[in-house]
Amino acid sequence: MLNADQWFTEVDESAASAFSLKGRRVHAEQTPFQHIEIYETERWGYLMVIDGCTMVSTRDNFFYHEMMSHPVLATHPKPEQVAIIGGGDCGTLREVLRHAEVKQATQIDIDERVTRLSEHYFPELCESNDDPRATLAFDDGIAWIKNAPANSLDVIIVDSTDPIGPAEGLFNVAFYRSCREALADGGLFIQQSESPLMHGPIFKAMGEAMREAGFATTTPLFFPQPIYPGGWWSATIAHMEPLPAARSTATDAFESTLQYYNVQTHAGAFAVPPLVKHLVSSD
Ligand code: SAM
Repeated sequence: MLNADQWFTEVDESAASAFSLKGRRVHAEQTPFQHIEIYETERWGYLMVIDGCTMVSTRDNFFYHEMMSHPVLATHPKPEQVAIIGGGDCGTLREVLRHAEVKQATQIDIDERVTRLSEHYFPELCESNDDPRATLAFDDGIAWIKNAPANSLDVIIVDSTDPIGPAEGLFNVAFYRSCREALADGGLFIQQSESPLMHGPIFKAMGEAMREAGFATTTPLFFPQPIYPGGWWSATIAHMEPLPAARSTATDAFESTLQYYNVQTHAGAFAVPPLVKHLVSSD
């Protein structure tokens, strides 16, 4: 038995499994939106937990943040206007702003406390928050995108919590339709789409809902994420036209700043393993 004073544990009864990191809780608070905890772990740095689910650790967040941003930004020919829905830890924003083509990146998280805690415990993720191209809005992403002018965004990144609580409405046809309308021609939408191993039905339903909202095609990509259920995660890109070939990011100036993404991992991420073929649309 693990001693609860020395270990954080996320139990997933439905999968009859649990994930633990050794460490102690250093902060907990209930915001108007969710329950946030911070743990100081022995080997994984700090860990943020929202409503009992792991969000971000110092040691492994790079997989997720790099793969939520660089594949779409390298694929869009001119990603100038970017919106990040959720993403309050600011790690995705930092990655987005590595791209010189980006003129404006707006992060819309419903809960300002996530960002304030991230500034304290994950300052490295917040190091681009003062970039003149960055705007931090604290608002409901569903309402924000509904009010966004039509054809105003090149890339929308949904870096949200799981489809429960305030994030529930970020996983349905109405929200995807608003996103499609806010995207300019050639615009790309990407959303974290859970674990294909542990949450196959959610992953499949998300692709179906994006296509029902009018996106012509959905294209998933896969990457490791040790602290998330199953350790293997996905994101789904929704788009109107076939995805153009990615611009090469193979420069020392860009890739030497990263830990996972490069031209090779970009290509490999789009491979659809046999296990998930039945979850992916063939149209
Ligand atoms: N990488 C994480 C994961 O997949 O578990 C997500 C991290 S990020 C901290 C998730 C953020 O989504 C949280 O900060 C939360 O406040 C935000 N969020 C949830 N629902 C939202 C909504 N309706 N509008 C904007 N942000 C939302």
